[in-house]
Amino acid sequence: MLIYGTDHFVLPLPPAHRFPMRKYALLRQRVAAVAAEKLREPAPVTDTDLARVHDPAYIAAVVTGTLDARALQRIGFPWTPAMVERSRRSSGATLAACRSALASGCGINLAGGTHHAHRDFGAGYCVFNDSVVAIRALQAERAIDRALIVDLDVHQGDGTAALLAGDPSVFTLSLHGRGNFPFRKQMSRLDVDFADGTGDAAYLATLAIALPRALEVARPDLAIYLAGADPFEGDRFGRLALTKRGLAARDRFVLDALRRNRVPVAITMAGGYAHDDEDVVDIHFATVSIALESFAPAARDATRAVA
Ligand SMILES: [Zn+2]
Repeated sequence: MLIYGTDHFVLPLPPAHRFPMRKYALLRQRVAAVAAEKLREPAPVTDTDLARVHDPAYIAAVVTGTLDARALQRIGFPWTPAMVERSRRSSGATLAACRSALASGCGINLAGGTHHAHRDFGAGYCVFNDSVVAIRALQAERAIDRALIVDLDVHQGDGTAALLAGDPSVFTLSLHGRGNFPFRKQMSRLDVDFADGTGDAAYLATLAIALPRALEVARPDLAIYLAGADPFEGDRFGRLALTKRGLAARDRFVLDALRRNRVPVAITMAGGYAHDDEDVVDIHFATVSIALESFAPAARDATRAVA
């Protein structure tokens, strides 16, 4: 299992900006302390990779810095060459994590999950849609036919849903808060929306119904799991009330279900906007730790022996 970090590619932000760029370096430091030998730096995706998913005029405007003020405001980041490089590396990390998953069962991107990026515009801190870019690259090289996206970020994966609408080869599952951005939702193959204040028990009970159903219909060669930290009760934008323990149970349930069904999984971190950056890092680090445990060779052999 390989783990891809992109925190060397920092997106310069003004001091008062709400995006927690700091979390990526903190997370990599904690991962380095337990699994340094698995850490890698990803290659950037190419224009060819991007063009399977995004409009050529949009790609050109991002790359050359000619997005207009409204388009940049919708993304939420100021344009810099570093913003372009980071966006390419972040999609590259998801693609590399997918390759690691196909080779070993699991791969991790310590960033990614940019699910609000649409074909011809970015939104909500998302420039390119890393999940769809990765899936299209792997389909183009015939490494996979079918895929499943398990989007458990608290915001709906609207860009992903729109990009994959009408494509039976990729099943999109999104569990999100009803009252959250984006306020105009798209249609995933399976959407579950939660009321404000939903806690661990209701969330986990719903997931336990939704994920098996998605797996049965999707019959995927690969899954991408967006393990958002923003359903957390301490999140500034999430509006749900999951605890750290509940989020860990969520991760364990998803990774166990995929492993039992022999579906390789690439994990991306997606959102997390708790008041304290350390809480976000704790939640993401727990996801990585659970994956390391679940996909350790010993755990895999034990599962096989039981099966
Ligand atoms: Zn989110």
